[in-house]
Amino acid sequence: MAEKKTVRDIEVSGKRVLVRVDFNVPFKPGTDEISNSNRIVASLPTIRYLLGRGASVVLCSHLGRPGGRSIQELSLRPIRGRLAQYLDMRVSFSESTNFQRIQQDVSRITPGEVILLENLRFHPGEEANTVEFSKELSDLAEFFVNDAFGASHRAHASIQGITGFLPSVAGLLLEEEIRSLEKVLLDPLRPFVAVLGGAKVSDKINVVNKLSLTANKILIGGGMAATFLSASGRFVGSSPVEENFLDKAKSLLNNSPDGNAKIVLPKDVVVSDEFDSQSPYRTCLVSEIGEREMLLDIGPQTRDIYAKVLSDSSTVLWNGPMGVFEWDHYSEGTRLIADAIARDGVVSVIGGGSTVDAVSKFGLEARMTHISTGGGASLEFMEGKDLPGIVSLLDADEPYDKGVVG
Ligand code: ADP
Ligand code: MG
Repeated sequence: MAEKKTVRDIEVSGKRVLVRVDFNVPFKPGTDEISNSNRIVASLPTIRYLLGRGASVVLCSHLGRPGGRSIQELSLRPIRGRLAQYLDMRVSFSESTNFQRIQQDVSRITPGEVILLENLRFHPGEEANTVEFSKELSDLAEFFVNDAFGASHRAHASIQGITGFLPSVAGLLLEEEIRSLEKVLLDPLRPFVAVLGGAKVSDKINVVNKLSLTANKILIGGGMAATFLSASGRFVGSSPVEENFLDKAKSLLNNSPDGNAKIVLPKDVVVSDEFDSQSPYRTCLVSEIGEREMLLDIGPQTRDIYAKVLSDSSTVLWNGPMGVFEWDHYSEGTRLIADAIARDGVVSVIGGGSTVDAVSKFGLEARMTHISTGGGASLEFMEGKDLPGIVSLLDADEPYDKGVVG
C-alpha cells in the first residue's frame, strides 16, 4: 500500500480538525458503564498530538447499529466523561443531529479544545455514504483525520465520502495499525507462525489462504478446526462443518510445497454433547470423537505441540480463540496459546474482537507487541483487500488539494 500522509504532515495550528475515531466500545449490559475502554485509550495519542499543536479537535464516531435513527441507548454521551478523564480537560458534547446546531456547537470551541459529536449512525447518510452528509461533515473542519482503523473497511461518509471534500490524512493509531500489520505480512522475522481459530471457517478462509503463502506454519483451532479436520477425512461428530468450504480447505491442506505440513490441525480435543457451559465434557483424540460430540477446545497434546511450535517462532500473528474460552471448561487451549505467544523476544500481533477479549481476560495485553483495535478491518487488511478508509487518504507525495472538491 502506498505511504499515506499523516497528522505529522499537516500544519494544524489554529485550524479545525475533524477526527474520525472508533469509540464503538462495549458497555455493561443495560447500563451506560463502559466495560472496555481500550479503543478510547488508543485514540489519545492523535488527540493529544493535535491539541498540542494548537488545533481545535472535533471528534466523531459511530456506536452500535442504530440504523439511521436516534436511539438514546446508543448515544456517545457516556464516552465524553471517560475521555475528559483521560485527557484531564473539559470535552464538549454536541447532542444534536441537526447540522445547523452542530455547526454552532463546533464553532464555539477554540484552539486546544475538544468537542465530541453524537453517534454518526443516527444520520441515515452516514452508512449510505451520501454526498450530502459527507459535505455537511466536511463543513465542520479544515482537515480530516482518519484514526478509526476498526471502521476503515466501511465505505461510509465519515470514513470515505468526506475524503472527497477535505485534505485527509491518517491519525497516529491508524498509522501504527497499518505499520504493524504490514510488517508481519510483508517482512516478518522468521520463523513466522500464524495461529487461526474462532467460530467459522467462512470468516477466515481468505486469511488462511493468504497466510499460507507467507507463514512458516499455520496452527488451526476453534470451531473452524472442525471443517479443516473434516476436509482431511476425519470424523468430527456433531461439530458444525461448513460444507461449502470443504474443497477450499482441502486444497489448502494439500498445498504444502516443501512436503512439510504447513497447516497443523488438532490431534486431540475437548468435546461435549451440548453447546453449553455446564454440560459434561471429556478430552479425547480426534479419532475418538463420538457421534453426538462436538469439539469445543483443543486438547492437552495439541496445546503442547502448538506451544512448542510457538516457542521456536520469532513472529506470531494470532486471530481467533482456540475454543469457547468464555466458558471455563473450554478456556485452557486459548489460555495456553496466549501464554506461549506472550514471550519475550516474539513479535506478536493480535487481531479479532474475541481474541483481544481473551488476551485481556488472561491479563496479557501488555505482553503483546501490537493489539489491533479492528476485528473485521484487520481481517480484510490481512486478506490483502484495499480498505476504503485507508486508500482514500492522501498519498505521502500528493499535494493537499488533490481530489478535494471543496
Ligand atoms: P475473533 O473475534 O477473535 O475474530 P471469531 O469471531 O472468529 O474470533 O470467533 C470467536 C468466537 O468463537 C468466540 O466467541 C468463541 O467462543 C467461539 N469459538 C471458539 N472455538 C469454538 C468452538 N470449538 N466451537 C464453537 N465456537 C467456538
Ligand atoms: Mg469476532
